[in-house]
Amino acid sequence: MKKVIIIGGGIIGLCSAYYLQKEGHQVSIIDQSNMDSGASYVNAGYLSPSHLVPLSAPGVMKKGLKWMLNPASPLYIKPRLDADFIKWTLAFNKSCNANHVKKSIPVIKNISLLSQTLYDDIKRDEDFNFQYEKKGLLMLCQTDKTLEEELETAHLAKREGLDVHEISKEDLKLLEPNATFNIKGATYYKCDSHTTPQEFMEDMKAHLKAVGIQFFLNERVEDLVQDKDIIVAIKTKNQTLKADEFVLSAGSWSSLLSKKLGLKLLLQAGKGYRINTTQDTGITIPSILAEAKVAVTPMHGFTRFAGTMEIAGINDKVNKIRVEAISKATTSYYPEVILTQEEKNDVASGLRPVSPDGLPYIGKSSKCKNLTIATGHAMMGWSMGPATGKLVSEVISNKKPILDLHPFHPDRKF
Ligand SMILES: Cc1cc2nc3c(=O)[nH]c(=O)nc-3n(C[C@H](O)[C@H](O)[C@H](O)COP(=O)(O)OP(=O)(O)OC[C@H]3O[C@@H](n4cnc5c(N)ncnc54)[C@H](O)[C@@H]3O)c2cc1C
Repeated sequence: MKKVIIIGGGIIGLCSAYYLQKEGHQVSIIDQSNMDSGASYVNAGYLSPSHLVPLSAPGVMKKGLKWMLNPASPLYIKPRLDADFIKWTLAFNKSCNANHVKKSIPVIKNISLLSQTLYDDIKRDEDFNFQYEKKGLLMLCQTDKTLEEELETAHLAKREGLDVHEISKEDLKLLEPNATFNIKGATYYKCDSHTTPQEFMEDMKAHLKAVGIQFFLNERVEDLVQDKDIIVAIKTKNQTLKADEFVLSAGSWSSLLSKKLGLKLLLQAGKGYRINTTQDTGITIPSILAEAKVAVTPMHGFTRFAGTMEIAGINDKVNKIRVEAISKATTSYYPEVILTQEEKNDVASGLRPVSPDGLPYIGKSSKCKNLTIATGHAMMGWSMGPATGKLVSEVISNKKPILDLHPFHPDRKF
């Protein structure tokens, strides 16, 4: 049994705590917030093996540069004279190639499928009430060009063994009789599932408290006390906490803390927004509005519209132009859904921790023997949460990891 402190109680921290406790470790979670907001609460709730292609794919950098001029674009990279940002951008650009995509696809698929199975296990084994539905995911396309691209991606996913097919507008109407669409065509990934994130987070926190995990809320870890390559303790404003092992799952803030150990964890925050509506949208199957890159999820009691990726530093400023872009895209694809001003004013944001190559960091750096890093999941952190937690617990328990950890190595070169 080891004493483990987890820094950061988002989905990654909570799932790590869950599996570590099952292995018999004594676990605490420390978080700078009240643990009720941020990426793990505002996300679209997709468990999406369909998302096989990493963010850093051919053409993305070019698109990103073009989109910089458009304040309503779904991806925005704000140029900054900041060494970390420049290093990240160069590494991102280097990863945007076909070979990297080819190598990453099976890696992403395996961790996503493992995670989906672990969500199944959690739903089966625990007394959790969270919404968990297996209705698949529609990729809705408004132009022939996008439809063609999506059919290509679907073909690739099919080759990887995923259940996906093109769906005609007639069949879509049968599938979603109460929604109206303005689209050219769509693909349908039956392999995907969805959840209401807030519900899972609340269920998991209640479970962890019940099994004796200690929570330190509103306590920011400000320093890590090291003795050579071992962390001895962490320091907050009010206290010093000691443990045998530490987990760094502080999301977008992780690189700030890793710097204190001399680690160069390349990571940028990718801000996204969600708008919820309790209107009767008629939407029962999650969809992605392919051109606008907006995710639509029928959650428990409301429909969520989530989107944009703003790489513009760590802040929670709301960019109203981008919020409006999500709303406009919604009505453009679903003409009968009009989000109200009140719903738009109620927007919430979250920061995705984005690595330069679209793969998370999971494992130990050679620089520190008792720190397990678990971050950088970008748009896939919700999907990959349980699998990441399981891998973290295997690393700390000195067990052979269920997946090969090399592609996720925190010291990997870009
Ligand atoms: C709009 C949007 C839609 C998304 N949709 C999906 C989706 O459908 N499917 C999917 O798989 N993923 C999705 N994602 C991505 C997913 O939400 C993230 O990858 C995931 O939530 C990241 O989890 P995390 O635990 O790493 O980070 P976070 O949830 O950010 O948690 C990190 C925690 O660390 C704490 N912390 C930071 N620094 C310190 C410190 N110094 N001391 C103490 N505590 C600290 C923070 O307070 C925070 O609570 C979406 C994200 C957004 C924004």
